[in-house]
This record gives sequence, structure tokens and C-alpha cells, in this order.
Amino acid sequence: MNGEANVDEQDLAIVAEQLGRVPRGMRAIAARCPSGHPSVVQTNPRLEDGTPFPTLYYLTCPRLTGQVSRLESEGVMREMQDRLAEDEELAAAYLRAHESYLAERDAIESLGTKVTAGGMPDRVKCLHVHVGHALAVGPGVNPFGDEALGLLADVWPSGDCAART
Ligand SMILES: [Zn+2]
Repeated sequence: MNGEANVDEQDLAIVAEQLGRVPRGMRAIAARCPSGHPSVVQTNPRLEDGTPFPTLYYLTCPRLTGQVSRLESEGVMREMQDRLAEDEELAAAYLRAHESYLAERDAIESLGTKVTAGGMPDRVKCLHVHVGHALAVGPGVNPFGDEALGLLADVWPSGDCAART
């Protein structure tokens, strides 16, 4: 399996600069910032050496990643986690997000596990995972990814991340 088959050299170089290292197992650019650089990459379920890598979508834009980290530090995940226990509709949507994520990953290669990422389907453990998922698949799939992007609407994508291309 050649994980870099769908990624051109220029994007690879930009992602390497964004991450500060050569990206591993990159499969495709899943989303871009308005300025054009990659914001989310899709990663192979297994890295080149066979190591399972269950996180299918990985946020790469440094500006967006920093903004999501800020939300995390403000306690947004804890509040989301609390609502999961009280809101059946939200919990059902989150379960569907998990199932969708797993189905997409299994369609590439099954890891023989139902573990996805970010705490799905019953915990909220990494907002970067949810934002990456939401940007990759569009609104209406990952409720917490959508919410987080809504919370960032004042700073992203209106913010200037072109400086980091
Ligand atoms: Zn960006």
C-alpha cells in the first residue's frame, strides 16, 4: 500500500512544515484552509511499518490546531461530555459519528477494532479529532466538531493562516 499515492510533493512539504516532521502514513488531503494549504490529512489505518493508526483524520494547520487547543484549555470538552449524559439526541448523533468514522476507516483497511478516536462514542477526549473529522466530511456528521467550528467562527477561517503556507 502506498499511502502517499494521492498527495503531491508540494502538499507533503507543506504538511511536513506544519507538523515540524515528515508526516507518516498520509493518504490524502481531506480539507484545506481558505488560503489553500492543507488543514486536515487522511491517514492510513496502518503506518508504513504496520503500526495501527486509528486516527483517520489529523488536523495539520498550526493556526487552527492552536485555536482548538485554546478551546480545550477553556474546558469545552468537559461541558460537551456532561451534555452527552443528558441529551439523548446528541448522544445518538455522536454514536452515528463514531459509526461513520469507523465505516470510512474499515473501507480502507479494517484494524479489527471498533475503537475510533477522540473518545467516540461515549467520551469527548480530543477536540482536534472532532474538528478534523467535521472538516473532512462536512457539517451534520460530527456534532462536537461542528460545535467547535461554530465556537471558532470569529477567528477561523477568517483568521490569517496564509502566513504559514
Ligand atoms: Zn490554515
